[in-house]
Amino acid sequence: MKLIEYYESALERLKNDCIQCGKCVFGCKAMQALPEAPDPRRTQADILDFLRGGASLSASALLKTRACMRCYGCLDLPCPIKVSSLQINELIARELHRRGDLPWDGPTYPVHKEKVEKLCSAAERQRITRPVANPDASTLFFPGCNVYKQPDKLLNALEVLDAIGEPHSFAPGMKYCCGSSPRGMAGDVEWVQGAAGKLFAYAESLNTKTLVFWCPTCLSMLQDRIRHFYNPPFECLSFGQYVLAHLDRLKFPAAVPQRVAYHEPCKNAYMGIDPDSVRQILRAIPGTQLLEMEHHGKDTLCYGCTAVDSHPETGEKATLRRLLEAKACGADTLITMCHNCNWIFTPALKARGKAHGLTFSIENLSTYLTKAMGIARPDSLL
Ligand code: SF4
Ligand code: SF4
Repeated sequence: MKLIEYYESALERLKNDCIQCGKCVFGCKAMQALPEAPDPRRTQADILDFLRGGASLSASALLKTRACMRCYGCLDLPCPIKVSSLQINELIARELHRRGDLPWDGPTYPVHKEKVEKLCSAAERQRITRPVANPDASTLFFPGCNVYKQPDKLLNALEVLDAIGEPHSFAPGMKYCCGSSPRGMAGDVEWVQGAAGKLFAYAESLNTKTLVFWCPTCLSMLQDRIRHFYNPPFECLSFGQYVLAHLDRLKFPAAVPQRVAYHEPCKNAYMGIDPDSVRQILRAIPGTQLLEMEHHGKDTLCYGCTAVDSHPETGEKATLRRLLEAKACGADTLITMCHNCNWIFTPALKARGKAHGLTFSIENLSTYLTKAMGIARPDSLL
């Protein structure tokens, strides 16, 4: 099946078979966090009207799409026609795109390029932007595109791979893309399928046996969408899983006496992807004590993600709620895996930390790990 058919089929089921029970609205984690959630059945009726050709989206239907945090927390909702709340939001975006109301000309990555230019040396720029096809490698590392807004995290991840010492090839982000980000923003499903197809064709051309994803969103995208039209002939691992499998190769010369809490990528947690690798890595660092926040594992909370921009009332509330949980558990450092969590958390901590007594620091796993290995690279967000 092609990705486009996957969406077309969901659209047909929605238009013809939806019973307007409202579970997809009621069960959405963003809707549940709103002080006054819209009426679920009415909202779904408005969405169906729009998807069937109605002139415009009602305020509540628009709210549902804008407040979406893209947390993937709705994939298991008991929809009788098997359409997720996220997929409905994507179909709305696709319809807006089709009508010319959500213009998009393809990714241009202006912020990513500016950060790479500003924060990297010439050698570092080359390292993270050029493909590497290593004939001795069966592993391909793909960082995704979004981490280029914080190239220090990517450079740290590469330091870890170098320390592990297994030969690997490299598929640079921006040149390659899993297709995730523009799909949701602009509903251009054809572009998404093409982008993902290009990445996997490159992986196959290298006879890849293991594709290591840095970005948790890419991994969720693969699991939830891409596997509908492409069954990879290689193993797909998270960065954490790959590091854990080679942890004995990493040396930690000095203890890192920190109490850390781990904010896991909600998408992966809700989907049951890689539940434990980062926790095991953190426990292996001498001196590091792992604490748990009130919500963790499958019960974790999203930090707001895309809703921080598209619907700040929802997004910023989610960010603060998570920071307050980190404070409550007594951590010195809040560890993230996903760089985008840093992108949102770190400025929020700077802006609101004093008012809420938030005295801990925030570090990406790549920063914490390389520091423990004796490699110091400043966090570009600090
Ligand atoms: S849960 Fe499924 S059937 Fe119920 S309103 Fe949503 S899409 Fe329709
Ligand atoms: S991805 Fe999260 S916020 Fe978006 S519709 Fe699903 S549950 Fe709601």
